[in-house]
Amino acid sequence: MPAKRNAPDADPRRWYAYQSHRNRAHYQLKTEPLCRFCKQEGRTTPATVADHVIPVDGDWWRFRMGELQSLCYDCHDRVKRTIELRGYSSKVDTSGWPIDPNHPVYGQSPEPQPSNHPTSSRARWRQIQKAKRELRSPTIVEDGGGERN
Ligand SMILES: [Zn+2]
Repeated sequence: MPAKRNAPDADPRRWYAYQSHRNRAHYQLKTEPLCRFCKQEGRTTPATVADHVIPVDGDWWRFRMGELQSLCYDCHDRVKRTIELRGYSSKVDTSGWPIDPNHPVYGQSPEPQPSNHPTSSRARWRQIQKAKRELRSPTIVEDGGGERN
């Protein structure tokens, strides 16, 4: 079969429902049944989510071909929250460099230094606490991203 570069569906959230992706996610969780992040910290947690190592960000090719990693629900959610709150992912590649081009190390800091702004960093703290509380409320997670259809 020739490689397809064009997404068959404009809405990336639908991609997660494809049988091809479900098979792939299933295979990922089968071959790596434990959460990778928890494992790195010495915990043994069953993985429930096949997450893309490099955020898909609406890119069909990355979605189809990007490497997957097994994560537990909490770790997966933490990764997503980090991206939402900071505006970039803190994931690094094997050489230790951030994989997200929006990471401040690449010179595009999304915000001023919070240490100079006690009020705004306090508001940010609240925002993070709120996100943590929401984390506790149980929701059904699909496999990689789309929560709503
Ligand atoms: Zn975990």
